[in-house]
Amino acid sequence: MTAFRTLDDLGETSGKRALVRVDLNVPMADGAVTDDTRLRAHVPTITELSDAGAKVLLLAHFGRPKGEYRPEFSLRQVVPALEAVLGREVTFMERPSEDAIANLPNGSIVVVENSRFAPGEEKNDPEMAKAIASFGDFYVNDAFSVSHRAHVTTEGLTHHLPAYAGRAMEAELKALQAALGDPEHPVAAVVGGAKVSTKLAVLEHLVTKVDHLIIGGGMANTFLAARGVGVGKSLCEHDLADTAGAILEAADAADCTVHLPYDVVVANEFAANPPTRTVNVHEVAADEMILDVGPSAVEALADVLKTCRTLVWNGPLGAFETPPFDTATVALAQTAAALTHEGSLVSVAGGGDTVAALNHAGVADDFTFVSTAGGAFLEWMEGKELPGVAALGA
Ligand code: ADP
Ligand code: MG
Repeated sequence: MTAFRTLDDLGETSGKRALVRVDLNVPMADGAVTDDTRLRAHVPTITELSDAGAKVLLLAHFGRPKGEYRPEFSLRQVVPALEAVLGREVTFMERPSEDAIANLPNGSIVVVENSRFAPGEEKNDPEMAKAIASFGDFYVNDAFSVSHRAHVTTEGLTHHLPAYAGRAMEAELKALQAALGDPEHPVAAVVGGAKVSTKLAVLEHLVTKVDHLIIGGGMANTFLAARGVGVGKSLCEHDLADTAGAILEAADAADCTVHLPYDVVVANEFAANPPTRTVNVHEVAADEMILDVGPSAVEALADVLKTCRTLVWNGPLGAFETPPFDTATVALAQTAAALTHEGSLVSVAGGGDTVAALNHAGVADDFTFVSTAGGAFLEWMEGKELPGVAALGA
C-alpha cells in the first residue's frame, strides 16, 4: 500500500457534485435503525464536503435485493437516522437526474436509492458506471467495508471520475498500513476463531509478515492435532493436518515464532458454566473438548505482547459467547488495551466476532483501531489488493 488521494487533494469544491460511496448497510428492526455505528463513521466526510459547498450525493447498498427493486430494501428508511447523526437535513433521490441535481442548493446532502436495485452494480457494468458517473464531478470512497468488491459504486466509477479516499477510509487505511503494511517490529498477530479452513490464506500471509503468530480458538486444535496431540471431542479439522503442518514449516522458514496453547480449559459439554478442568494440552481426555486457552498460556502470551510494538488481532481465543470460555480472550484483550494505553503497542483488530469479543471485554475503544469491516478486513489480512482501495492510488 502506498500513497492515496484524500480530501486534502481536492481543489475548490463549491457547487461541484460529489459522488460519495458510503456504508449505510445498518441493522434495522421495525423500520428503525438499531445500531448507527456505520452512519456515524461517515459524518466527518459528509460534513466536510457539505461545508465546502459540494452537492453530496451518497451512494450505497442496503441488503441483498439482487438487482431488482424491493421496497423492503429501500434506502429511504435510513434517511431519518442519517439526519439524526449529522444534525442536518438529508433528502432522498429515487432516480438521480441531471436536472434534479442541478436544482439542488450547494451543500445539499442526498441519499440516492439502493445501488443494488440495478442489475449492473454487482457486475461492475461499464455502461452503468458511465451513466452514474455523469451525475458527478468527482468520486469519494468512504466505505472500506465494501472495497474488496469491484462494483460500480466501489470501482467502476473511478474509471470516469477523479477518485479520493474519504476521512473514514483514510483513517482505516492508515491504521492498517501501521499494523501490517509498514509496521514497527516486533509484530504479533493473534488469530483465533472456529476453523482453520476459513483463515488459511490469512495464516499463510501472516507467517511471512509477523514475528509472533499466536494461534488460539478452535483452530488451535487443528494445529495441536497435527503435532500429534490428542484433542478429544474438540472442534478440529483433522483433514487439514498436512496444511497445518505446512503453515508451521513456513513459519519456521520465515523466522516467525508460532505460539500454540500449552494449557487449555476443557469440558465434557458445550454449555454455560459446566464443570471444567484446566489441563496441559497433553492431558485432554477422549470425551473432553477444548473451549478456551488456559491461564498459564495467557500469561505467557501477555509477556510476548509486552515485547512487541505492533499487534493485529482477528478471532477470539475461546468460545467467548459462553462463560467461562471468554476468560482468555478477555484477559489478553485487556493486556493489549493496557499496553496500547501506555503507548508501547499499536493494536489493530477486526472481524465480526472479534469486535463483539472486544466489546464484551470492554476494550474496543482502547485499541488503536478496530475495523468493523468483516470480509474486507480479512481479505486485507490475506495480503490481497482490494479493488476499491487500489483505485484510490493506494
Ligand atoms: P471473526 O468473526 O472475528 O473472524 P470467527 O468467526 O473466525 O471470528 O470465530 C469466532 C467463533 O469461534 C466464535 O463463535 C467462537 O465461539 C468460536 N470458537 C473459538 N474458540 C473455540 C473453541 N475452542 N471451540 C469451538 N468454537 C470456538
Ligand atoms: Mg465470524
